[in-house]
Amino acid sequence: QNTVVIKTLNRVVKNFELIHEDFDFLLHYDQLENGIVRMSENHFEQIMIILLDNAVKYSEQIKKVDIIVEESKEDIKITVKDYGVGIPEKDLPKIFHRFYRVDKARSRAKGGNGLGLAIAKNLVEGYSGTISASSTLGEGTSISLTLPHHI
Ligand code: ATP
Repeated sequence: QNTVVIKTLNRVVKNFELIHEDFDFLLHYDQLENGIVRMSENHFEQIMIILLDNAVKYSEQIKKVDIIVEESKEDIKITVKDYGVGIPEKDLPKIFHRFYRVDKARSRAKGGNGLGLAIAKNLVEGYSGTISASSTLGEGTSISLTLPHHI
């Protein structure tokens, strides 16, 4: 079960561009040696949809999302970076918990159940990958996942 990362990202990004015409989705990568992760394409797509959906949902004035792909010896790291509302530091460790939502009133207005990131984490860890978040309140959020190469 393998996924060609850039090819799949291009397809997902194209769909997001059609749905969210007011946003810029920018895919950044250098020449990749391998470029293939050990994960089914369906699961990879599902994770990217969750992360891009959140980036759009929690952006305000700056409607820009960077998707950065970096390759190391063992794995491929994909970062989805937005310039939106951000997440308070105290909430950051909890956003991957089931049903956890920061600022319930504000989040509910945006729709959702607080399940997206829990599902993403489950999928990533099922393939021996990792997922993490960094954020500055009012400046934006980056969610990174690392997935082992297909050898
Ligand atoms: P859904 O179940 O539809 O994905 P959700 O967005 O509330 O709903 P998660 O994706 O699990 O659920 O996210 C959990 C919480 O983390 C969100 O409610 C939101 O408060 C916060 N969050 C997630 N991504 C971002 C982001 N890019 N910027 C700011 N806050 C975020």
